[in-house]
Amino acid sequence: MNVYNEVKQIIQQLIDIIYPRRCGFCGRIIDFGSKEPICGDCMRSAFLADSYAYTEDGFSLFEYTGEIRKAIFHLKYDGNKALGSIFACLIYNAFQKNGINMDFDGIAAVPISAKRLKERGYNQTELIAKELGILSGIPYVEGLVRVRETVPQNSLGISERAKNVMGAFGTNRSFEGMKVLLIDDIYTTGSTLKECTRALIESGAVSVKYCTVAKTFLKKYAPEQLSAEQTEGAGIVPK
Ligand SMILES: [Zn+2]
Repeated sequence: MNVYNEVKQIIQQLIDIIYPRRCGFCGRIIDFGSKEPICGDCMRSAFLADSYAYTEDGFSLFEYTGEIRKAIFHLKYDGNKALGSIFACLIYNAFQKNGINMDFDGIAAVPISAKRLKERGYNQTELIAKELGILSGIPYVEGLVRVRETVPQNSLGISERAKNVMGAFGTNRSFEGMKVLLIDDIYTTGSTLKECTRALIESGAVSVKYCTVAKTFLKKYAPEQLSAEQTEGAGIVPK
């Protein structure tokens, strides 16, 4: 570590003492010295210890539950765009802490439908991907697009989802020779990520890995046990 970084770290620690950083989810004070943007309780509450390991295809950070679920909801429906930066920071820290080499040429985001984009004014996944690009120095790449409108995945049953997104994505540029990191907010059945990966590979990408903020564990719940709020964004429709 060079002198500049050491001084910067000391100044940051002094600032942390005077103005303790607060959790981006619950607002409680974050433990001194932590580099995470959320508190230890929120981190532990939904942390996916078992599937945190970087698999061949990628990984998800949290289970889609508790404070994480609330935060994703606020990012998508309450216009709380700052949460995009918090999720990006959590993803970036996960790579760093686990010594996983971010060997990617570009970071892409799963595109939302034109209708959703018009209603919301932004693509929440793109916010995360762009911020992750700033943190990692890996360029955010546009070009992954929806080539046809789909029915919102969360309005469909599990079995209908793969069919709904089949062939729904394409690219409007070449990804020739690129190693791509694909970002999405929630992993449910994996069908959206699979279709986006297919589009990127068809466009020349040599590899595509994914990272999602959260993952839904469908087998844990019977759909009829879930409330409307729980099924929002989770792709589960109570029958
Ligand atoms: Zn918290």
